[in-house]
Amino acid sequence: MDIDGACHCGNLRYRFDWPGSDTEIPVRACRCDFCQKHGAVYTSHPEGVLRAEVREAEALSRYRFGHGTAEFFVCARCGAIVFATSEIDGVLHAVINVKTFEGIDRAILVSTATDFDGESVGDRLARRHRNWVRDVRIHGLP
Ligand SMILES: [Zn+2]
Repeated sequence: MDIDGACHCGNLRYRFDWPGSDTEIPVRACRCDFCQKHGAVYTSHPEGVLRAEVREAEALSRYRFGHGTAEFFVCARCGAIVFATSEIDGVLHAVINVKTFEGIDRAILVSTATDFDGESVGDRLARRHRNWVRDVRIHGLP
């Protein structure tokens, strides 16, 4: 299933290829303070493919905090968090904010409970490597 998405103003667009023909996509609300403030809800799949394009790189904010192992791609013009990336062993991994999906039936998005409290940085990177999208290309970055 190909899912198109974008920030509100269209500066950051993507196509996410969700593998298989599952009729449900598990999603999780990130509990970190930053994502709570935005209401971001993410999904990923280790066999998924993410192709993204930035029109104006100067209107994109790439935000890190805490351990700094994840980078949030936030449109600086319209304020949407579109996805987050993490580089693990030289490979870019990603999770996508399902709030930026366009043209899909939201009934297929099924919330899952998660609790990553107490996770070490090593545990966190290992979990991302297992679960996050591993085939990520972002065009238009400087
Ligand atoms: Zn935007």
